[in-house]
This record gives sequence, structure tokens and C-alpha cells, in this order.
Amino acid sequence: MSNNFRVRFAPSPTGEPHVGNIRTAIFDWLLAKRHGGEFIVRIEDTDRARAVDGAVEVIIEALKWLGLRLKYAPYKQSERLALYSEHAERLVEAGFAYKCYCSPERLDAVRKSRSKQDNATGYDRRCRDLSQDERAERPVVRFRMPLEGTTTVDDLVRGEVTFENRLVDDFVMLKSDGFPTYHLAHLIDDHEMQITHVLRGEEWLPSVPRHLQLYEALGWKPPLFAHLPIILAPDRSKLSKRHGATSLLDYREMGYLPHTMVNFLTLLGWSLDDKTELFTLDSLIENFSIGRVSKAGAIFNTEKLDWM
Ligand code: GLU
Repeated sequence: MSNNFRVRFAPSPTGEPHVGNIRTAIFDWLLAKRHGGEFIVRIEDTDRARAVDGAVEVIIEALKWLGLRLKYAPYKQSERLALYSEHAERLVEAGFAYKCYCSPERLDAVRKSRSKQDNATGYDRRCRDLSQDERAERPVVRFRMPLEGTTTVDDLVRGEVTFENRLVDDFVMLKSDGFPTYHLAHLIDDHEMQITHVLRGEEWLPSVPRHLQLYEALGWKPPLFAHLPIILAPDRSKLSKRHGATSLLDYREMGYLPHTMVNFLTLLGWSLDDKTELFTLDSLIENFSIGRVSKAGAIFNTEKLDWM
């Protein structure tokens, strides 16, 4: 693997380009630019129920408008399905994963009864050791999480975080329709695409033990992780439409300039010195570093946009 920085922006095409996701894309792009690395876009379109027609085009349009140029056409996970199932099968054969035949109804009932117990994962691991007779037609593939020990990540933003393995579910990697879940697909792609730094929203931090265990089972070296702070509304609740526009392209409609949006969104969770607010694009590229990304939630205060 080369030592060059390779980062990816991996949106799911589930709707408009949300300002939170676009902030991730900007951080990715700045990091790549700062280090003379590569910025890759990968469309994570394996959740067929959530995919929205036209969403990919709108995301690409938003990136272009901001000036985040793509050297390569975006990858699409839906065009890489064979790769994911091959790896899932390989993990089953090696004993790191197993096929699970539980119906959604059974899983629902198990989840409900176990949610009352302390320290119980949502799934009871019933299919870890099934007899041939108990096997039905269309299984999902679950990863066999270790039942003991801990998994630690040294996150570039959060520092060391340790998880107890027994509290992590045997997660689904491949669904019964043959499509992979995020956990499997993103990880295979990050490896294949030689990604060095994974920047993503902090809602993914609890999934890191799954990913690190999966890297280990596959015998691959994980990338570095940076879990970015959540974006909050001025009242510190989760940012949503009731707080105003959340699509980047709404800000274009309102007449804001792309450079202003890059400046504004970069300051959501990153600062150079806790006081400078106005940057040229070149000075953002020159100064951007993950080390200056904050752990605390970033407040989305659009009043700033009017004087930027
Ligand atoms: N498709 C995932 C999302 O939109 C990507 C997370 C990641 O960057 O790995 O949340």
C-alpha cells in the first residue's frame, strides 16, 4: 500500500445532500488536498428500501458546486455485489461467520424480551450451531463476535475507546436478498480502495468493534478512523428540517456562495485557533488537520452565514 493519503466520501443516496454529510465530504477533500492524496466518492446504495431516485445526481451536483472536484467517477456498491458475497462465503467457510435462518418475527420477539435484560445483545445467537434440519431457504450471514475480551480503537478525534465484545451483537453482514449491509460492504471497499483514513459521523463509533473484528478475521490492516462530532441545532437538539434548511442545495438557492458554504461548514467541528472565522480555500487546505477537530457537538448557527 502506498503511504499517500486516500480518503473517501461514502454517501447513501437516500435524499438530499444533508449539510452534515457534506461537512464530512469537505473534511475528506481538505485532508486529501492538504497531503497531496486522493479523494474518492463511493455511492453506498445497497439498502434498496431507502434509495431515492435521482439522489446520486444531486449529491454529485452539490460537490461540484462547492468545487470538490472528482478525479474518478464515483464507485457504486450495487455494481460490486459479487465481491461482497464472495468474502461473506469465505468467512463462513473459515468459521468467522454463520448463516442465520431466524424469521423477522422471531428476531423481533427475541429483541423485545432481551431488551429488559441487562447486558444482553439484541440477538440470542441461536443459529451459531444449527443442525441441517433446522436450516431453511434464505439465510442471512452473521459475523461471530468473540464472546470475551475487548476491542479498542485509537480514534483520531476521540482518542482510545474500548468496547466489551460480549455486548456486541453477532451482526448481519449479508442480507437474505444477497445484498451486503454497510458493515461488510464499506469495509471490503475501504480495503480494496486502499483507504488510509475513514472520516465519518460519530453515530458509527459504536460499530467500530464490529469492524475491527471483521478486519482481523479477514487478515487486513484497518485504516485510521476519525469520528466527527454531531451537528446540533442552536437549541442543542439534533439538527432537523424544523430548524431550517438542511440541504446544501437550499443554500445555493438562497444565493450563498460556494466558498462561503465551505468556510461555514468547515468550522462546524474544526477550528484553527478558536478565533479565526474567515478563510480562503487555500488557507483551509494549508491548515486543515484532524488534530484540530473537536469532540464536542458543533452548533449549526446560520446567522453566521450572513456576515461571512
Ligand atoms: N453510507 C454511510 C452513511 O451515509 C457512510 C458512512 C461512512 O462514511 O463510512 O452514513
